[in-house]
Amino acid sequence: MIQLYQPLNFMGMVYREIKQAITDIELMFSILGRPPEIKDIPGARPLAVSAGHVRFDNVAFAYEPARPILKGVSFEVPAGKTVAVVGPSGAGKSTISRLLFRFYDLSGGRITIDGQDIAAVTQKSLREVIGMVPQDTVLFNDTIRYNIRYGRWEASDADVEEAARLAQIDGFIRLSPHGYETEVGERGLKLSGGEKQRVAIARTILKGPPILVLDEATSALDSHTEKEIQDALERVSKGRTTLVIAHRLSTIVGADEIIVLDKGAIVERGSHSALLAANGLYASMWNRQREAEEARERLARVGDDD
Ligand code: ATP
Repeated sequence: MIQLYQPLNFMGMVYREIKQAITDIELMFSILGRPPEIKDIPGARPLAVSAGHVRFDNVAFAYEPARPILKGVSFEVPAGKTVAVVGPSGAGKSTISRLLFRFYDLSGGRITIDGQDIAAVTQKSLREVIGMVPQDTVLFNDTIRYNIRYGRWEASDADVEEAARLAQIDGFIRLSPHGYETEVGERGLKLSGGEKQRVAIARTILKGPPILVLDEATSALDSHTEKEIQDALERVSKGRTTLVIAHRLSTIVGADEIIVLDKGAIVERGSHSALLAANGLYASMWNRQREAEEARERLARVGDDD
């Protein structure tokens, strides 16, 4: 029996590792749209995180040399604080999150975490300290429990369930046909965008990274789901250095600082109320979103009356 068990056990391990690698690659592709080419510098040391202070210092970047995307971007996310990046489509918001993961090298400037240049540390150590809640979460064709445990393989069942509870997905899981053992994915239970995002939040809670990147979904969620996700995100970001790539301004009203990016440069920055008072790009984006929301609500009411 033992003779049979050992190879099977080994195969299980290999299977899990391959599966994890596939998801990492999938995740990478979903963020990047192309494979990574970045290498560690010779003698790179692991990143040593104390407080988790993130700093972009005059960062310049281009995917193709002829077309600069970021032009001298400087900002800081102090340890434990939340900074949101907003701006029109194509301004370079998601590019900022990709650069923090060092999926590309800069053409100018530096990005540091607790004073260490991220280009000089190992990529593995860099990515270990950053948790990402992406726009679209990749789920495995496996159980819900497995999908949450992906955040930290050593986590106990109780930890997995606690993370699900904090991410506001526990109730949904308990109502699923086999609870935490319910299969999801292609041949299993299909999860909505909002449910998938809460699985991603549970994973991140389990991973417990000091630095968080939240890439908000562009698609509108219904207001109840949005509120649940917002509460879950607030819980996970409490006390962690958080960078939010925001599409809906209503979700970042409470951020410590809002950076307004336009065509690769910071054009405004400040708190929500200061930016509204400044009556610039942020204020016009805010007013446009409010009008669109009001129009949607009016339409929904007409629909209800029919
Ligand atoms: P959105 O709000 O629409 O998501 P964004 O502000 O996040 O936009 P980015 O995704 O950072 O914008 O893209 C900034 C610019 O860089 C865009 O003009 C985009 O076309 C370009 N870009 C993004 N990814 C690549 C890539 N892999 N190769 C070349 N150009 C790219």
